[in-house]
Amino acid sequence: MARITLRQLLDHAAEHGYGVPAFNINNMEQGLAIMEAAAAVDAPKMIDALEQMYPQIPLCLHQDHGNEEATCATALQHGFTSVMMDGSLKADAKTAADYAYNVDITRRVVEMAHWIGASVEGELGVLGSLEHGGGEQEDGHGVEGEVSHDQLLTDPDQAVDFVRATKVDALAIAMGTSHGAYKFSRKPDGDILAMRVVEEIHRRLPNTHLVMHGSSSVPQPLQDAFNRFGGEMPQTWGVPRPRPSARSQRKQEANSIRANS
Ligand SMILES: [Zn+2]
Repeated sequence: MARITLRQLLDHAAEHGYGVPAFNINNMEQGLAIMEAAAAVDAPKMIDALEQMYPQIPLCLHQDHGNEEATCATALQHGFTSVMMDGSLKADAKTAADYAYNVDITRRVVEMAHWIGASVEGELGVLGSLEHGGGEQEDGHGVEGEVSHDQLLTDPDQAVDFVRATKVDALAIAMGTSHGAYKFSRKPDGDILAMRVVEEIHRRLPNTHLVMHGSSSVPQPLQDAFNRFGGEMPQTWGVPRPRPSARSQRKQEANSIRANS
């Protein structure tokens, strides 16, 4: 299996016009399912831990939401090809950090990682809901208490300054998404899922890869099935799934033809 960095993975994606999902996994079965899906669509994948069984799939081993330099250094020591330094929060992963703190710690992690050829993702802005002004905890990580509307939307001017100052390979931005199943209490529109922020930052930083955290959804048919069979899941909306591209549709058709023959 070729271990590649986040920079290599996202450069290829940008050149060929596709997005890359990052999966957090908790066990071997989830890792195997992701690698099977990656093999089926012939796509490189970024996941957060994996055993090696698919030598033909380029893999970026990426540490998600590093809370401080030592966490990132440990991941790099263990062979991760990419780390995220989330300096939007302080080391307790709960308290919103100020801009100077974020720049300083992210810049130091970038220096360290680039010495050994690994990539770094930074984060600017605080992940949280534009509906109720709070964050969502994921494995103990996430802002606590209310944060201002401004903090929940990454400032495009500040993003330009941040990327110049830190030299991150990829930038996670805040635009109304959050971790977990409960992102939106209604079908998202521009007020609660601020796609304009992505467009504006991309316009100013066309050569910086942007990362959307909390990009998942629980599809309606799965919510319905879960509740039909005894579950009690309140209605929720996530980030809508894009229509499949012509390329992936062709690939799926080719796979189904192969499977049927
Ligand atoms: Zn995240």
